[in-house]
Amino acid sequence: MDALVARAVDRLRSARHVAALTGAGISIESGIPPFRGKGGLWERFDPMEIAHIDAFLADPALVWRVLVKELKDIIDRAQPNDGHKGLARLEAMGILQTVITQNIDGLHQLAGNTDVIEFHGSFAWQRCLQCDQRVETRKVDASVLPPRCRCGGILRPDAVFFGEMIPPAALWRSQEVAARCEVMLVIGTSAIVQPAASMPIIARQSGAVVIEINPEPTPLTGVISNYLIQGKAGEVMNGIVSGLESTTARTEGGLDFRP
Ligand SMILES: [Zn+2]
Repeated sequence: MDALVARAVDRLRSARHVAALTGAGISIESGIPPFRGKGGLWERFDPMEIAHIDAFLADPALVWRVLVKELKDIIDRAQPNDGHKGLARLEAMGILQTVITQNIDGLHQLAGNTDVIEFHGSFAWQRCLQCDQRVETRKVDASVLPPRCRCGGILRPDAVFFGEMIPPAALWRSQEVAARCEVMLVIGTSAIVQPAASMPIIARQSGAVVIEINPEPTPLTGVISNYLIQGKAGEVMNGIVSGLESTTARTEGGLDFRP
């Protein structure tokens, strides 16, 4: 086992409160392009013109046609990858409690995590502009745009558009989780965009070990994070999960004398 993976496994085994902060990098292996950076959606669209709430309200059919429908086609088909599944396995093992995510794809919930804080809301759901009724995006018929609710109201993604606020409850809860955790896994994000950027800082200042899992060093590396396990999210999580499963099997054999 990689030395840093072994170090992470060791720390995770003995921690009582573990949180994960995830970003676009964890969903790339599920075929979801990032918004920012190379190959990102914002290379093709100006987000202020197409992903701003004012743009949506001014012409919902247009925003549905050029942005929302494309996202729906991608996200409807996407399945959790080993990165998401690894975090779900960590929760099932009683190690991880909360996932804080910048993603809107709903893949953490699909993988099985039950406490997911979504800074940017969820694209897995659409919400009626008129009656607030929510409908699963996968069940929305997008053959006529914009799709409408049974009441006749226009459906909008239940995600945060530019020009809208981060849901305050998501912000408060994530700050609380970051302050309480003993280990924070930062996966697939360089966490340079607020409010995500604050979470590893709060965790570190509160005494947590911040373990970064990213393909390349980021501005967090060695400054905010204690160390970087360099690699793809899925591969690194597979290593951590199998390390935990083998050490758990050993402790169940009676080598662990902790109360
Ligand atoms: Zn409605």
